[in-house]
Amino acid sequence: MRHSPDTALQVRGLSVTFGTRRGPVPAVVDLDLDVGRGELVALLGESGSGKSAAARAMMGLSAGNATVHAQRLRLGDTDLLDLPERQRRELRGSRMSMVFQDALSALNPVLSIGDQLGELFREHRETSRRRARAAAVELLGQVGIPDPAGRIGDYPHQFSGGMRQRILIAMAIALRPELVIADEPTTALDVTVQAQILELLDSLRRELDMAVLLITHDLGVVSEVADRVVVMYAGRVVESGSADDLLTRPAHPYTEALLRSVPQVEQRGRELYAIPGSPPTPGNQPSGCPFHPRCARAVDRCRTERPPLTTVSAGRASACHLAKEVLHAAVIG
Ligand code: SF4
Repeated sequence: MRHSPDTALQVRGLSVTFGTRRGPVPAVVDLDLDVGRGELVALLGESGSGKSAAARAMMGLSAGNATVHAQRLRLGDTDLLDLPERQRRELRGSRMSMVFQDALSALNPVLSIGDQLGELFREHRETSRRRARAAAVELLGQVGIPDPAGRIGDYPHQFSGGMRQRILIAMAIALRPELVIADEPTTALDVTVQAQILELLDSLRRELDMAVLLITHDLGVVSEVADRVVVMYAGRVVESGSADDLLTRPAHPYTEALLRSVPQVEQRGRELYAIPGSPPTPGNQPSGCPFHPRCARAVDRCRTERPPLTTVSAGRASACHLAKEVLHAAVIG
């Protein structure tokens, strides 16, 4: 299989299955994904779609009851599937890192910010205490913490939610990784701070030529910063393409419905559209197309035949029997 030197992350055939008391429950099925250097790809889906399970599997941080299979999982030229756990751990933080949603629980409450950042440099780069501190101050400045030298001795609880998220991002980029996976990094923040954090991620990936995989349920977030979008539903990719194209001309009724449910200024005062029903729980999937019980376009065939992910135009794929019609409706609509 071809591997471009500009591909930071390459995933083929990734599946994650959880062992439960009721038997094996598939959370991610046969996921393919590429993220290029300097590219920001959004992995979009509702809660339970498998996006976070997929991200954790890519990082090698799956829960103990998860079984992970993949045909290919590469970070740059490194095959992650063959790597012993010790080396995989070494890679985390240095070449690939993760930004979590809840900064307060991701940071150590009893260590100052300077000590937490400094520890990273000392552990991975064997830097002296003095140099580690200087690097930590510089990083805090880079992510927009005011008066970084004055605040380096402060503890996580002394910062606001937005500032803590900036500190998590500082930790994630500290060792200049090739890939950052950000799992719902702005969900707990208010809209203004959310926009600032997205802007920061966006500018850092350009500045550092870093690949970013942004896990989110929020289409608003996607439209702000993503170059490409991969939409997941019930553990599988149902649509992918460039953000500009996919957000204006969806080729899957699920993406179409997600777009309809984003509040628009001109709709003010009118009731907001909500996709009927709820997504299936893993292990309890409907037959045929998993979206059919909620799909306004469903036909008989959808109830029995699962649509494969198929190319619909250059760089666009959709898993829908009616993909061409949906795309056409978007073009003329
Ligand atoms: Fe809807 Fe059928 Fe397409 Fe599934 S295959 S998204 S049910 S039209």
